[in-house]
Amino acid sequence: MTPDNPLLAETGLPRFSAIRPEHVEPAVDALLADYRARIDALLASNATRDFASVLLLGEELEDRLNRAWAPVSHLHGVADSEELRKAYATAQEKIVEHASELGQNRELYAAVNAVAGRAETAGLPRAARTLIEHELRDFKLSGVALEEPARTRFREIANELARLSTEFEEAVLDATDAWSEPIASEAGLAGIPESGRAVLRAYAQEKGVDGWLVTLKQPSVQAVLTYADDRALRERVYRAYQTRASDQGPNAGEFDNSARIEKILALRHEAAQLLGFRDAAEESLATKMAPSPDAVLAFLDDLAARARPVAQRELDELRAFAADELGLSDLQPWDVGYAAEKLREKKYALNEEELKPYFAADAVIAGLFAITERVFGIALRQREGVDTWHPDVRYYDLVDADGRVFAGAYLDLYARSGKRGGAWMDVCINRFARDGGREVQAPVAFLTCNFAPATATTPSLLTHDDVLTLFHEFGHGLHHLLTEVDYPGVGGINGVEWDAVELPSQFMENFGWQREALDLFARHWQTGERLPDELFARMQAARHFHAGLFLVRQLEFGLFDFRLHREYDPARGARALAILDEVRDEVAVIKPPAWQRFPHAFTHIFAGGYGAGYYSYLWAEVLSADAFERFEQAGVFDRATGEAYRQAILAVGGSRPALESFVEFRGREPRPEALLRSYGLAA
Ligand SMILES: [Zn+2]
Repeated sequence: MTPDNPLLAETGLPRFSAIRPEHVEPAVDALLADYRARIDALLASNATRDFASVLLLGEELEDRLNRAWAPVSHLHGVADSEELRKAYATAQEKIVEHASELGQNRELYAAVNAVAGRAETAGLPRAARTLIEHELRDFKLSGVALEEPARTRFREIANELARLSTEFEEAVLDATDAWSEPIASEAGLAGIPESGRAVLRAYAQEKGVDGWLVTLKQPSVQAVLTYADDRALRERVYRAYQTRASDQGPNAGEFDNSARIEKILALRHEAAQLLGFRDAAEESLATKMAPSPDAVLAFLDDLAARARPVAQRELDELRAFAADELGLSDLQPWDVGYAAEKLREKKYALNEEELKPYFAADAVIAGLFAITERVFGIALRQREGVDTWHPDVRYYDLVDADGRVFAGAYLDLYARSGKRGGAWMDVCINRFARDGGREVQAPVAFLTCNFAPATATTPSLLTHDDVLTLFHEFGHGLHHLLTEVDYPGVGGINGVEWDAVELPSQFMENFGWQREALDLFARHWQTGERLPDELFARMQAARHFHAGLFLVRQLEFGLFDFRLHREYDPARGARALAILDEVRDEVAVIKPPAWQRFPHAFTHIFAGGYGAGYYSYLWAEVLSADAFERFEQAGVFDRATGEAYRQAILAVGGSRPALESFVEFRGREPRPEALLRSYGLAA
């Protein structure tokens, strides 16, 4: 191996300034070759198959690969270049291929099975046993445990599904690009604010068109449906957007996903049955916290019954307002966003610009750290001189009450070119206790946001949404960094059930709504004035605006997705539109027109990983609201409650079922009341 390749360093933080695109492929090749050789050597030897020789070897090899790959994948996200993109794509393909090869390795599966069967395994620590259970589960879900001809058929299905997902997503992208409408005169933009017009002007410039261009990209659709006074324009955009990749609308039949939806559901059903599940919904729950399909449906139905009357009241109020004040006596789906925005302005007169001066980025960060110190007894101390990828990036040591540095985090706050949009937390280094805990590798996280940087005259000022985003990602970060699990595979966020992994992140968002917490940092950057009570009250009131309508929409998506996978019947087909109608009869208060084809662009479930899992968003929100309620009862900064939460939930990560962790913290199973209260829906 090349000793001067910075990606192959075995200890310390990544040397970002030394990493070049040409280091990527040789490093990944070397690590994968070594990985294969060591697995082959294990399987060829007669040595006893025990936890150390099989599972710990796997953890060690995965960790070495991650230490090289995490910085590359991170740079690809935050400091991309054409050369890096190429190197990344080539190496990623090899890593994916390697992972699927491992997942299909029958001898390795037999070795893990042998470890599981050993008498001494029962006496291993909980985290070790969970690691074994997860490995076996994942081997089974990958089809490797099947006998022929089922095994071959399962692999065929997996390949076919991968192809269909890609095609589904491409059809949505192509349909999105295929429609646009130029607007030549300023009058056509009436109602759209300057920020929205700038977006439409940029689309026009991109296409070499004069004036403005309305497209089906999210910011354009948002600007038109929320603000455009031209009702006919709103209707055209709604129609084009809500019929993308379908048999309806302006491009009917051109990118139609109808047949792909049928095929995807048929193949998912067949694959699930090959693995011994009743259906794809049941299979999906194998890696989730929800105990059964019936429990998921009961959960969604219960929330729907509670949210629907509230949504109906909100809609009635909106209808009356639209008729009286906007002259819209027959409120249509393309009017809802527009009328709602007008009503919101009238009721709360709350605008982001009014709040921003109270959220200077440095003050918000100091406030977030102060909250962390009070609640969890942990300080974050900036360390200078750490090698990073951009001068704006800061590095923090996490220090416990005894002054011991036990973890670290990079914070990259500002938007810039070459950086992917959005906000996320990613693993840089996993906690790994080697040699019976005598040598501990400290966990390190990447926290990435895309906030507006400082200008010549103002510091970086955040919107309240930005503040919540930062708290959210920091919550994921704490989950990763406060882990006390010895093995990376089940430490921090790794190995946590899908529908529970957003618990720590959504939990942290709650602090962004607490007066006591805001008082630690929300001060006017020029005058030092504390966020006025009157403004805070308007923020709180606006938070619950149309919460019922929002919730029934989420429930519509969640129920549709779950029932679609649960009720698939080979004799009758997917019945996607019929199920959607039934779901809408149950939960929706606004009935879209018969030509609406929302499923055809539902990439979350047909091209993303959310198939029979969309309910996870609400499931995790119930957990986070319910967990936070204990803090509200004890005082939001209560140190003892913070310690209990840290030990029961953050420290154990994926090393045991999330339900067990939750029950340890809360003293009972989760209940939806706190969520309903946080939405302003409780009595
Ligand atoms: Zn998240």
